[in-house]
Amino acid sequence: MPSFVIQEKCDACQGQEKTACMYICPNDLMVVDKEKNKAYNRDPSACWECYCCVKICPQQAIDVRGYADFMPMGASCVPLRSSDSIMWTIKFRNGTVKRFKFPIRTTEEGAADPSGGYPTDQDNLDDHVLFTEPHSLGIDSVPTLKK
Ligand code: SF4
Ligand code: SF4
Repeated sequence: MPSFVIQEKCDACQGQEKTACMYICPNDLMVVDKEKNKAYNRDPSACWECYCCVKICPQQAIDVRGYADFMPMGASCVPLRSSDSIMWTIKFRNGTVKRFKFPIRTTEEGAADPSGGYPTDQDNLDDHVLFTEPHSLGIDSVPTLKK
């Protein structure tokens, strides 16, 4: 199920021209209804449920039905970000609440090294070896099946 905005919680990022959910959506789906001052997903059929908007919303105003592999039917799943971690609160339909806290990236925007510091001498796009391999795998060469 695509993302949806819980209208009572959304404050349109306090009237900013570009809200957090507009900034983060890779599919450019989030827009603000200027009359209501509330955001909404303008094309739910194009939403791939990536959770970016859910995680970035400072008001916890966006929800997506959680995937069955980590959340049973009828539960809710709400993330809360801090400067160094993200806390997921899962509320099961029987009322049980579980919380899971994970560290998040703290690299300054634009400062990430895409190669992670590994050599990037692999430039053959037809090769089975991926970017930074074999170095990032900690091996000298990627094993292949002998034909
Ligand atoms: S990020 Fe959250 S509070 Fe800001 S506009 Fe989007 S839904 Fe509303
Ligand atoms: S879940 Fe992802 S694709 Fe869907 S609206 Fe949010 S940011 Fe965009």
